Amino acid sequence: MPTQPAFVIVGASLAGAKAAEALREYGFDGRIQLIGEEDEPPYERPPLSKGYLQGNEARETIFVHDLQWYADHGIDLLLGTEVTGIDRQRREVTTSRGDRIGYDKLLLATGASPRHLPVPGADLEGVLYLRRVGDCERIRRTFQTSSRIVLVGGGWIGLEVAAAARAAGVEVTVLEPGEMPLLRLLGPQIAPVFADLHREHDVDLRLGAHITEILGEDGRAGGVRLADGTRIDADSVIVGIGAVPNTRLAAGAGLRVDNGVVVGASLSTSDPDIHAVGDVANAFHPMLGKHIRVEHWANALNQPDTAAQSMLGKSALYDRVPYFFTDQYDLGMEYAGHAEPGQYDDVVVRGDLGTREFIAFWLADGRVLAGMNVNVWDVTEQIQQLVRSGNRVDLRRLTDLDVPLDQTVSA
Ligand code: NAP
Repeated sequence: MPTQPAFVIVGASLAGAKAAEALREYGFDGRIQLIGEEDEPPYERPPLSKGYLQGNEARETIFVHDLQWYADHGIDLLLGTEVTGIDRQRREVTTSRGDRIGYDKLLLATGASPRHLPVPGADLEGVLYLRRVGDCERIRRTFQTSSRIVLVGGGWIGLEVAAAARAAGVEVTVLEPGEMPLLRLLGPQIAPVFADLHREHDVDLRLGAHITEILGEDGRAGGVRLADGTRIDADSVIVGIGAVPNTRLAAGAGLRVDNGVVVGASLSTSDPDIHAVGDVANAFHPMLGKHIRVEHWANALNQPDTAAQSMLGKSALYDRVPYFFTDQYDLGMEYAGHAEPGQYDDVVVRGDLGTREFIAFWLADGRVLAGMNVNVWDVTEQIQQLVRSGNRVDLRRLTDLDVPLDQTVSA
């Protein structure tokens, strides 16, 4: 009697859960094992630095599905279980519980881990990182017990946590080593929007600030020391200095790893029986003509559909326009596209930077590479269409609020 095919998904994350869901939707009726290191069922991360962190969203709303859903769809959810190795010859994974689990197809959704701060004092109590739901809950408790915190890093975690802390009435200092938060991504014309926003909410934004030590008092973080000798007192220190893709399993199995697990547009690795999705996947993007690794929610949400089709032998490519969003105070923003420094030659604004109600466009040779709508809604699909089309736009029309976005392409 032929045995049922068995698919194993490593990483009980949003990406992992979405892959299991897509496999069932495409009619796969074999075995699906979804293995996760954490004890929590798959959950979404945006609330961890936004609504749930602020106490505006209930805990049960962060989960991708309730436990019954996995049972109803015949998905074996193995929580609290670390996959420790992949044996490609035998097509098995080994787990921290000592099990060997066979697979016909394997999906890696192993995500990324926070980059650790390499300074003395970084292991003191009260030094916190934000990645998992437990981290978020620790930070929430810190908001209740702290009157002032230091945030190391002015990236998305630094800025979103700063906004949540201010909403909780906590004094905040943000240490940004560069000239301005988000400068690399947004450039000098647009990045000040976020710096000004935080200053207006009384965040003490320190630029060019290099932390050299976390100062301890009775084993607990009591402040930080900067390279110029400045001491900043704080009840806790929250670190958001980037993330590192979790490639250990893939590398150990001899898969191609280079800034993540290298996959083609079908999200297959150098082994056709192993795919990768989400933060860990450095995927070839057909529209951009190169590999990109995207550490954002939309990627984890949407890539699994392509991976599931590909695992089932269907022809599928992941070519969605990269997308992410943020909410900070009364500013809501969506960013679509991909514009790296040096790739664009113009930035134009439709609307008003001063009132923070605008769309910014990054262009190269008259073509839109990326667009960011700030406090302007229901335009991301049109922005994505401009990016996707690669058509030249008429800058006068693009920046004219009276001209609909879908009528801005050059004649
Ligand atoms: P991030 O957005 O990459 O920002 C890292 C920040 O830390 C940058 O400002 C960087 O400055 C700074 N930094 C780097 N090394 C440092 C050091 N040794 N000391 C002090 N500062 C340092 O990373 P993140 O905020 O940690 O977030 C982690 C991941 O989660 C990211 O991929 C992020 O995109 C994702 N995330 C996304 C969202 C969202 O989509 N809304 C929200 C939260 C998290 P330089 O730029 O000057 O190097």
